[in-house]
Amino acid sequence: MLSIIVPCYNEEKTVSLYYEEFRNYAAQLGDYELLFVNDGSKDKTLEECLKIKEQDKNCRIVNFSRNFGKEAAMLAGMKEAKGDYVVIMDADLQDPPKLLPEMLQSLKNDPGLDSVATYRVNRKGEPVIRSIFARSFYKLINKMIDINIVDGARDYRMMTRRMVDAILSMEEVNRFSKGIFAWVGFETKYLEYENVERSAGESKWSFWKLFRYAIDGIVGFTTIPLRLATIAGGVVSAFGFLYMIYIVLKALIYGDPVAGFPSLIVIITLLGGIQLIVLGILGEYLAKTYMETKKRPVYIVKEIL
Ligand code: UDP
Ligand code: MG
Repeated sequence: MLSIIVPCYNEEKTVSLYYEEFRNYAAQLGDYELLFVNDGSKDKTLEECLKIKEQDKNCRIVNFSRNFGKEAAMLAGMKEAKGDYVVIMDADLQDPPKLLPEMLQSLKNDPGLDSVATYRVNRKGEPVIRSIFARSFYKLINKMIDINIVDGARDYRMMTRRMVDAILSMEEVNRFSKGIFAWVGFETKYLEYENVERSAGESKWSFWKLFRYAIDGIVGFTTIPLRLATIAGGVVSAFGFLYMIYIVLKALIYGDPVAGFPSLIVIITLLGGIQLIVLGILGEYLAKTYMETKKRPVYIVKEIL
């Protein structure tokens, strides 16, 4: 059986469009279950999902008690999924259901393969600034971690049961799925496709949300920023030591007239800045450790329909 997980947050306009499109390919998928995860939508998403449930006996709905974010919704879907194959896809048709039969065939035909993922060959229709930042983020994080996160890779991927179980065995609360998918390993095949614009509604990602997500990804998968802080401290100390020798020698040779106020201010502000940045880095890791030690559930399910 194939489990199809669809996280939905305020998708009243898109879920019915999604289902219509999905129906065109459902026959090629054999036995399936369609799992909508309603992530605390404030509009009529739940009603729309219930309408689909009435038409389709393979449909179930996991209803959250509030909005917990897409990461939580994907996790809930994977925990709830009973299939031998599991696929995660967006409700807005940016992840074309057209690819589903091909993904399933690839997994069935090649026993060595555990995941078929997708990536966009372009970012057509996306704000330019967002693309630039996204590209730099992938370059940066791939320099820092050993595993490789593919630029433009979407969360749209189909996995075998053993890969899903591996993902579920990772109990971290701060979940960065793009990293987790890569971290668990397994053989992955990538399908490429042209970026599709949202069928209706709006993207839930603001610039700042994405920025936070990027920081979470880095903090979640590498401690290199902490090492960089140590290195920065070493470099600045070495520079300070050399400068001290220079000042002492200068005072001994030329005497000690009171001067150098501008350079003093520059050094103080520069050092102050570096110290604050390093504290910030420490703080990010401390905050993550704090949240992880609380062991709070990642999401709360109100009901399963
Ligand atoms: N989503 C969710 N919870 C959230 C935000 C988004 O379940 O808090 C779902 C959303 O309904 C959609 C998918 O995640 O199915 C991707 O969201 P969106 O289209 O806004 O992201 P984008 O495609 O712009 O990256
Ligand atoms: Mg989208």
